[in-house]
Amino acid sequence: MSDVLVIRPFAGPARGLARIPGSKSVTNRALVLAALADGETILEGALFSRDTRILIAALQELGFSVDADESACRIKLIGLGGRIPKAKAKLHVGNAGTAARFLTAFLCLHPAGDYEIDGDAAMRARPMAGLLRALESAGAKCLTPAGSPADGFPLRLVTSGLVNGEVSCDASSSSQMLSALLMVAPIAPGFSVRLIGTTVSEPFVEMTAKMCAHFGRPLIQNHGAWICPQPGAYRPLSVYAVEPDASAASYFIALPAVTGKKSLIRLAGYDVSGLQGDTAFAAIAKACGADLHEETGAITVRSWSALRGGDFNFNAFSDTFLTLAALAPLLDKPVTLRGIGHTRHQETDRMLAMATELERLGVRVEPSAQSLRVNKSLDALTIYPGREAMLAASQNAPVQIHTYEDHRVAMSFSILGSYDLHGNGQPWIAIHDPLCTGKTFPGFFTALEQLRGTFLRIAVDGGAASGKSSTSRAVAAAHGLMHVDTGAHYRSVTRALLSASATPDNPRSVIAALPTLQLGTKITGHSAQLTLSGWVPMDAELRSPEVNASVSRFAAMSEVRHFLFAYQRSQVEVARSAGFSGIIMEGRDIGSIIMPDAEVRIFLEADAQARTARRAAEGQADAVLSRDQQDASRSAAPMVCAEGATRIDNTTLSLLAVVEKVGQLIAQARR
Ligand code: C5P
Repeated sequence: MSDVLVIRPFAGPARGLARIPGSKSVTNRALVLAALADGETILEGALFSRDTRILIAALQELGFSVDADESACRIKLIGLGGRIPKAKAKLHVGNAGTAARFLTAFLCLHPAGDYEIDGDAAMRARPMAGLLRALESAGAKCLTPAGSPADGFPLRLVTSGLVNGEVSCDASSSSQMLSALLMVAPIAPGFSVRLIGTTVSEPFVEMTAKMCAHFGRPLIQNHGAWICPQPGAYRPLSVYAVEPDASAASYFIALPAVTGKKSLIRLAGYDVSGLQGDTAFAAIAKACGADLHEETGAITVRSWSALRGGDFNFNAFSDTFLTLAALAPLLDKPVTLRGIGHTRHQETDRMLAMATELERLGVRVEPSAQSLRVNKSLDALTIYPGREAMLAASQNAPVQIHTYEDHRVAMSFSILGSYDLHGNGQPWIAIHDPLCTGKTFPGFFTALEQLRGTFLRIAVDGGAASGKSSTSRAVAAAHGLMHVDTGAHYRSVTRALLSASATPDNPRSVIAALPTLQLGTKITGHSAQLTLSGWVPMDAELRSPEVNASVSRFAAMSEVRHFLFAYQRSQVEVARSAGFSGIIMEGRDIGSIIMPDAEVRIFLEADAQARTARRAAEGQADAVLSRDQQDASRSAAPMVCAEGATRIDNTTLSLLAVVEKVGQLIAQARR
């Protein structure tokens, strides 16, 4: 990617699954809590970005065992219950505010530590004093490298453990300082934290308290001070699922405001009532006209039904004010954004950055960038409708948006640039330093691109234990597709027929039982499962020895196949209307009968020995070869490698290699 990225407007609707990374705030808190827990914790869905890498590297530098698997978004960390292996270290936290504040408090737990911490120029200017004063009152020495009292970075910390008693913290400029103290509180018995005045971004403090409780140490407020009634090491968690980032999600909630009529974006794993205060953006978007629906474990956003301006207070979820500020010139009335003064001390002066760049597009902003430069205490912005002005400003060439090393400035203007302002697809916004998005969302531009894609159908066939399910699941997750396992359909029907005492030897019993089955679909994450009278049968029931033994015999019956045919084909529409960018369906006759016109067709193979060994390793009694023989030799829809399908032999290939091969076929099909 070059230094400037020209944003291509969406000529049509945006459709598909927006792939949102894990929350930075949750990942970095979980890293600290897991390091303070007594044993091994695995974080799933963790974010890998500049800020989380900084914290991971710092923990490793301090002697912690942190095993990070980026492709799986998984981190394994062995916590030491409050012990820090190295008493001396030099740490660099870049411009990562969470790492800076959390580590500073964390290091003070060492009974005899001597640490140096520094950040980059922007971090050196960010507020730390409130936290340092609190830590000093608990026994730490916070010095400059020259030995005088420090107000920020570069910092030398001489630690002697945190003493009992109450500390007071002025966190009016950053709630991260309070969060930093709360997370170490349970480790220092008798330690309590009182907030002086109020703090900004209160939901982040709530997030911290809730996460301390997830790791086994609930905090309570007692006469205005935070305490941990049962102090001690945090409890390690075998799996901790990190929520997708709510601030990152705001860009994809906003996108259907500017894209074509039939836009439909699905955000998997997003929970409006989750840990993150920034989920409140969903309500603001709704007030402005977003057509947003909550489902279990996901939301869908369709083309906005209106583009209304209004007056909103973003104090508690200010990371998302930039998203609305960038959309504001397209709304019908002015937009006022209040309570955002503290964002002037974040990655950059965010109010000034947004005002400057909107003015560059010709949009009227009050106070103007000029006034903001003079008066540092202004804390609200009003942005006026500016379609005509933006048309004029971008008439001849895209307007170059400066991003000030601020990922949120880059991402919010990219959403505005996705709007087809000139009505002919002409690009009109270019983003400087697009890679600054790597701070929290390294795949942002790819995720945006994926929403342009046409709907894709992938048929995967192959024998038993040929790797269809694991491959299809991984491909679905990587490409925003809905996964359908038709083997599970035959298994569900088999189980139901067996419990109705029907047998393959008695076709009448089957014909009588089939109409009593009520088929439906339940979508969980990327997977669409068949329901019978509203229930998804349990996996153990579907893979029982009885089902394994008779599924291929039932599946050979034309009555059974006919019963499932229309249902299976209908799943393409289910995927489309649920907002997926395509479907991947696996089975024996998908490329030949169910989706013969699929854009990608694959036949998976592996040698017999390998397949038998796979099932045995799963602890299953399953005669895979005899099932294959039955499936390939039956007269109704026998298992075949469909004409034109690509054969992939995975006997010696890793799952990742197979997923990559399928990825190449998808890329070809999308071209
Ligand atoms: O894929 P799985 O091994 O779970 O499939 C169980 C059985 O269901 C297969 O052995 C086959 O008899 C039947 N089946 C089928 N057609 C499909 C999918 C599965 O006949 N499309």
